[in-house]
Amino acid sequence: MMSLRIENLGVTYGKIRALDGVSVELEPGEMFFLLGPSGCGKSTLLRAVAGFIEEFDGDIRIDGKSLKGVPPHKRDFGMVFQNYALFPHLTVEGNVAFGLEARQVAPAERSARVAEALEMVGLSGYEKSRPGELSGGQQQRVALARALVIKPRVLLLDEPLSNLDAKLRWEMRDEIRRIHRETKITTLYVTHDQGEALSLAGRMAILNKGKIDALGPPRGIYRNPPTRFSAEFLGEINALTGILADDRRSVSTGAGIVPLNANELPSTLQTGSTVTAFCRPESVTISAIDDANAAHMSLKLNARIASSAFLGESTVYEIEVDGQPKWRVRRHETGEQVFADGTPVRISVAADAWAVVP
Ligand code: ADP
Ligand code: MG
Repeated sequence: MMSLRIENLGVTYGKIRALDGVSVELEPGEMFFLLGPSGCGKSTLLRAVAGFIEEFDGDIRIDGKSLKGVPPHKRDFGMVFQNYALFPHLTVEGNVAFGLEARQVAPAERSARVAEALEMVGLSGYEKSRPGELSGGQQQRVALARALVIKPRVLLLDEPLSNLDAKLRWEMRDEIRRIHRETKITTLYVTHDQGEALSLAGRMAILNKGKIDALGPPRGIYRNPPTRFSAEFLGEINALTGILADDRRSVSTGAGIVPLNANELPSTLQTGSTVTAFCRPESVTISAIDDANAAHMSLKLNARIASSAFLGESTVYEIEVDGQPKWRVRRHETGEQVFADGTPVRISVAADAWAVVP
């Protein structure tokens, strides 16, 4: 197991600064997630780590040793490209054996390792198939086996599930988790899909326009993101702007006073400055106007159901609140109470569900 350290990485293509001052350290054996929208620099970062980009600022170190000047094939990194990049004219076996041939591994050991890698990804029996005869999920497994067979020091995954349909994506997600648990290879997993990152990551970073915007465990970033960009990238928000009180315990907004749990506020927030307080759709409670149960909740607002969407396990309501953009509220479907469009309601938010960003 190896540590991977990316130090102050910067990459420029002509006039485009694709990465700027990116620093991340992966612990030995960790699967770390890099999440961000299309074009934010994710593939550039992976390509730099893999050694395909020669000019960059900063450094990339494996177990403390700089990789500057080390060509890709000498790094012993396994990479799975977004489009798999399989060789169409080679069999599954030939594709997986490719990296071993390049490393001049003897034929007997080569077949044993190819068999082991195919077993690992659940493709034993497909040795003689060609990529064109396989489903998307199976091609993905071949790409994984090809990366794993060299027993890489680091595994780099570039949006590995983005070409699969929803059901397969779920299945392969679990497969990748299992393989990581079994091999414990230090893995850098890049995706634009927040669900993938939230559900798999121990730690993750959010990249915005080539810079790290947030770094930490998914729950922490989801609940207390450092910026509005990260807050919105991870899910929907209901936002109120206002002034942060001197005691840092509330935000005074046009809709009322929002109470805060002061421990969780980012220290960069200035008292007396304009901030955005927000809550997530699942932390809002809807009650009938005359319901007394919401007494312990904060910021009770009178509102009106604008529309609703039944999603099976939950219903998402769009709610009109006086003088505010529409709120979104997710209500777990218990089958009890359904609010019809146009119903006047009261909405309230638990005090510890608020977060604040600059
Ligand atoms: P992502 O993988 O997050 O979608 P990329 O790393 O592919 O983002 O791209 C980051 C930025 O760099 C984008 O603006 C993209 O257009 C630009 N870019 C990527 N590769 C090149 C290249 N080879 N030449 C010029 N610009 C590039
Ligand atoms: Mg990309």
